[in-house]
Amino acid sequence: MRYAIIADIHANLAAFRAVLEDINKKGGVDEFWCLGDTVDYGPDPRECLEILQRLHPVGVAGNHDLAAAGKMDTSQFSPDAAISARWTADNISLEEIEYLESLPLTLEREGFTLVHGSPFDPVWEYVVSTGIAERNFSFFRTGYCLVGHSHIAEAFKREESRTTAIALTPNIGLVLGAGRMIINPGAVGQPRDGNPDASYAIYDTEAKMLRLHRVPYDIEATQERILRAGLPVTLATRLKEGR
Ligand code: ZN
Repeated sequence: MRYAIIADIHANLAAFRAVLEDINKKGGVDEFWCLGDTVDYGPDPRECLEILQRLHPVGVAGNHDLAAAGKMDTSQFSPDAAISARWTADNISLEEIEYLESLPLTLEREGFTLVHGSPFDPVWEYVVSTGIAERNFSFFRTGYCLVGHSHIAEAFKREESRTTAIALTPNIGLVLGAGRMIINPGAVGQPRDGNPDASYAIYDTEAKMLRLHRVPYDIEATQERILRAGLPVTLATRLKEGR
C-alpha cells in the first residue's frame, strides 16, 4: 500500500494541485492521510475542501480548521491569522463547516497516529525540538506518529531511550524500522523552512519507506488571489520566502 501524507494545505489551491499532479506522476496512492489545517491563510478554502473531500482522506482537524468552523477562540492567533480566520469563516459553506467539525483531533491508522500538533496537545503544540518530541513519545501507542502544524519537514526517532532529530531530504527514503518516530511531512500550502516548494510525503508499506517530496508551484497565482481577496499582504509575501 502507498499512502500520501499531506498537511497544512492552507487554502493554497495552486500548491495543492501541484502536489496532486506530482502524486499522480509517481503512480498514485491507495489512500490520502491529511494532518489538518486545510483552510486559512490562503485564498481558496472552498476549492481545497472540495478537492480534499473527493479524495476521501483519513484526516484530523488542525487549529485553523477549528477556528474556521467557529469551534475555537482566535485570541491566541497572530493579527494576520485572526483576520484570515474571520475571512475564511465568512467564505465557506455550512456543509464545509460541518465537514471540518466532524474531523477528529487524533486517529490511528496502520500503525501510525495522526495528529495536527502533537500527541500531547493535538491542537496547539509544535513538535520542533528533540525535547518536545521526547516528551510526546509517551502520549501515543503506535510505533509512528505523523504531525503537521510547524510547516517544517523533519523526523524525531526514539531508540535505546534516546531521541534524535533526523533531517528529511527530498527523494531520499526514510526507513521505518525498529525505532519509534514522530514525522512531519512539511506544509503543502505554506512551507516555513526557507524552501517555498510545496512539501508532502509518500509512505510505501512494502518498502517500509517514507519519502519526502518538494514540488514547485505557481506562487504568483496564489499571491495574486490572496491580494484580490483582501487578505493581509504578508500572507502573500511569505509564500515566496518559504517563511
Ligand atoms: Zn498550519
